[in-house]
Amino acid sequence: MTWSPRRRLRRGETVWAGDSGTTVPSRPLPSTVVADVVVVGAGISGALVARALRLSGRDVVIVDRRRPVAGSTLASTALLQYELDVPLYRLARQIGWSRAKRAWQRSARAVADLGDIVRADHLRCQFTSCESLYLAGSRYGRRALQYEVESRQRAGLSAHYLDGRTLREHYGIERTGAILSAGAAVAHPVRLTAGLLRRSIRAGARLFHDADIVDVQRARDGVMLVASEGRVLVANHVVFCSGYEVPTIVPRSTHHILSTWAIAARPTRPVPAWLRHTIVWEAATPYLYLRALPDGRLLAGGRDERSGSAHTDRRRLPRKARLLARDVGAILPDRSVQVTHAWGGAFGESTSGLPLIDRLPGHSRAWVVAGFGGNGITFSVVAAQVVSAAINGTPDPDAALFRIGTHLRSPLT
Ligand SMILES: Cc1cc2nc3c(=O)[nH]c(=O)nc-3n(C[C@H](O)[C@H](O)[C@H](O)COP(=O)(O)OP(=O)(O)OC[C@H]3O[C@@H](n4cnc5c(N)ncnc54)[C@H](O)[C@@H]3O)c2cc1C
Repeated sequence: MTWSPRRRLRRGETVWAGDSGTTVPSRPLPSTVVADVVVVGAGISGALVARALRLSGRDVVIVDRRRPVAGSTLASTALLQYELDVPLYRLARQIGWSRAKRAWQRSARAVADLGDIVRADHLRCQFTSCESLYLAGSRYGRRALQYEVESRQRAGLSAHYLDGRTLREHYGIERTGAILSAGAAVAHPVRLTAGLLRRSIRAGARLFHDADIVDVQRARDGVMLVASEGRVLVANHVVFCSGYEVPTIVPRSTHHILSTWAIAARPTRPVPAWLRHTIVWEAATPYLYLRALPDGRLLAGGRDERSGSAHTDRRRLPRKARLLARDVGAILPDRSVQVTHAWGGAFGESTSGLPLIDRLPGHSRAWVVAGFGGNGITFSVVAAQVVSAAINGTPDPDAALFRIGTHLRSPLT
């Protein structure tokens, strides 16, 4: 596959920008707001948390320093996987089999739950169930993948090992092996998030932009949030769904922020039929992930850098796009692509590979949600369930898996 830059390449603009169905009405934050729960961040995490709280009858205010859906969610390629970045057998070594198994099972349930939400709310967001093909690579070879399949099957999860020959015959891919699993999905992340936010607003939630939260203080039976220009929000609870802009009070040792890049590209020949219902990713460093868009284009990403700001450097973009197009060619040979969009973004990686869903240190009514890793959106679903259960006084049985202490105790680096 070759890189064939189009003259009208949309540099830095994500493939979703400007699509229909992505607008959300919002207002500037007034000087004072009182609410039951304030959700900071109008991305997919904030949208799901707000939905869960709204359904339990809470008065919800959502605030964002930018316009709605302008953070990582706008950059996301929205492969919705239950497979964590850390293989089950490796996570079991770190946090024990029982907890690792529960984390993986919970992730699998979350993708299914998101499908239920999309159907229940009639969201038109291209949500489509599909299979996941995890290719052996420089990080985990075929033996590790075989072992991983045994572990997943022992946990009752869908996973089948494909040897190199089967992979070549069925997919035309040259690798020593792969894991094929059911239970994944893809979606249009901005339509999904915008649809959820619009429904919450219709049901009474208030959404304010231009609301940069600069401080959180304990107040009598609640919290007081200070926004820029001295504006104030008073609430019983606050949930920070601020994406990679994790509140500084959260220990830095729990996570780090990376830069990543993605492209949308039109292949000169139609994508193989299997790719229309399969997402592909690889156990390699650097890694690539790949999926098809409904219009036949390819969406691919990876080429991460261990810097939270590298993605803002526009000069890096053409090279990253070229490399990603080349990486696609290594998986799907004999096709050239025309890159139509190339963009970068930030995402977080926790030391355990699990999301961070906990109260802010020293605060009983302030929560932080950070759905780290390649499963960010899947983890946002779990976060909404865990946080809404806690706020409603019925703690989630898996909550302890995602506490800040779990990440501190279980470094995987
Ligand atoms: C290129 C790329 C590809 C990705 N691909 C995938 C993928 O295929 N599958 C997947 O599951 N995940 C993927 N991710 C990760 C996924 O996009 C994120 O996990 C997810 O979008 C995070 O959503 P969020 O709502 O938590 O954060 P965001 O969407 O970043 O929203 C947070 C919001 O909080 C606001 N905010 C922050 N701080 C404050 C403050 N102090 N006051 C007020 N507002 C504040 C921000 O303005 C922002 O709008 C990808 C990420 C990138 C960058």
